[in-house]
Amino acid sequence: MQNSDLNRREFVKITAAAGAALALPAAGQNGVAQAPAPSSSKMIGIQVGAISFVDEGTEKVLDILQERACVNTLFLAVFTYGRGIAGRQIPGYPLPDHGKQEYDLKYHGGNFATPHPKYYKNTVIQPEHAPDHGNLDILAEVLPAAKKRGMKVICWMEDVFRTDLPNIEKVQEKDLYGRNMETLCVNNPNYLNFFTGLVEDFASSYDIDGIMWGSERQGALSDSLGATHDTPPIDPGNVTCFCEFCMKKAKERGINPDRAKQGFLELEKFVRAARSGKRPSDGYYVQFWRILLRYPEIAAWEMSFTDSLRETYAALYKTVKNVKPEVPVGWHIWHNTSFNPIYRAEQDWQELSKYSDFIKVVMYNNCGGERFALYVDNIGSTLYGDLTKQQLTDFTNEVMGYKESSYKQLPSTGLPADYVYSETRRALEGIAGTKTQIWSGLDIDIPTEPGNSKRTPQSVKDAVVAAFRAGAPGIILSRKYSEMRLANLGGAGDAIRELKLSS
Ligand SMILES: [Zn+2]
Repeated sequence: MQNSDLNRREFVKITAAAGAALALPAAGQNGVAQAPAPSSSKMIGIQVGAISFVDEGTEKVLDILQERACVNTLFLAVFTYGRGIAGRQIPGYPLPDHGKQEYDLKYHGGNFATPHPKYYKNTVIQPEHAPDHGNLDILAEVLPAAKKRGMKVICWMEDVFRTDLPNIEKVQEKDLYGRNMETLCVNNPNYLNFFTGLVEDFASSYDIDGIMWGSERQGALSDSLGATHDTPPIDPGNVTCFCEFCMKKAKERGINPDRAKQGFLELEKFVRAARSGKRPSDGYYVQFWRILLRYPEIAAWEMSFTDSLRETYAALYKTVKNVKPEVPVGWHIWHNTSFNPIYRAEQDWQELSKYSDFIKVVMYNNCGGERFALYVDNIGSTLYGDLTKQQLTDFTNEVMGYKESSYKQLPSTGLPADYVYSETRRALEGIAGTKTQIWSGLDIDIPTEPGNSKRTPQSVKDAVVAAFRAGAPGIILSRKYSEMRLANLGGAGDAIRELKLSS
């Protein structure tokens, strides 16, 4: 690993540039700015959903977050239909030691604040108030309580939808065979218009301190190869998107959609054969290159998706800035950036900095070991079918700049805190010279399978220390307070007090 010894001069340069961009000063009661508390020099954030405030009481949750983890910024899950950032613990995993001790099996999701219809006129997606907590508007509930304490509230949302929503089929992606998928198409105007409406609604209707949006997806090439830690990986026949909007966009970019489809059909055959253990006569790696060289359109299709997602970021950024220029806007970047080199290549921090006040880079080190091994399982059964799992682990460590690790032990050990340090450094170096801040995304009790690495207060503390020692101007404790154990949350506070980042 590089940079295990911090170059002091570089450290000062990076942290000064990052700190100047987004100071997030604390506003006191009655709107009078207070002298910033020592903790305000670093952004100490946590992702939290509406259910926790409902279950435990708003003031009590804020007390716990401040006392246990010195939190000064809430990333409030205001829009999602998914369970990763909202709702209680995912059914089947142990409930934490706070909140209601039962699973919310009827979780629905939606907009946990109050959607104002005038912002959603140019989309067929209905702006649905999440029915989970009656008429509760979580922003109206939490904003005043947080502001009284000088805490910031950043609206946190992702592009995860249900399949039973009105009109949703008109916005869903089409796979290689024209079948609807659960994911929505980034090139469908209804998608963009929904999210620009949503962020305009939040920025206009509430006195918020920022917007963070995330989309955990990649293009069809990576998806076809199974270049991800997701289980099971996407079926190579289900890669996306081949809807009318994507075909039109491809043509405008000079990509022949029919050639792209043919290429993905060839890739589908390759992946199916590889997963059933049928080795091509020249080996998996060579055969893949034979297809890619014959059909470069499959790489162009991948980049077309990436550019479309970037255009979404840029449009959301512009929309918020038009309403309230002072509201910071940034993105949650998926954990796959730690594993899949193709996806990492697509996360070009300099390019993203043009429309990002901050970027949350996911570097969850506890569940990271399990996820690394899953990535190796997935891609090791296609592109790298000729490598052993350990060889592929070594290769990934080398090209991604990580320390040696054992494929067999990764799930039970997790990734070391040093990974958080090197990932934070890498992101800071990548963003250097821009005004964009890097906030390290750290996991506390994201569920792992039985027998696999579990968080301890010490391992949380080590991760937080590593992020700040690397020069991060902020951290985001993830994925949601409702899955975190209090003692482990306390590990974050221990680190922050030890580093004297809080009074
Ligand atoms: Zn499409």
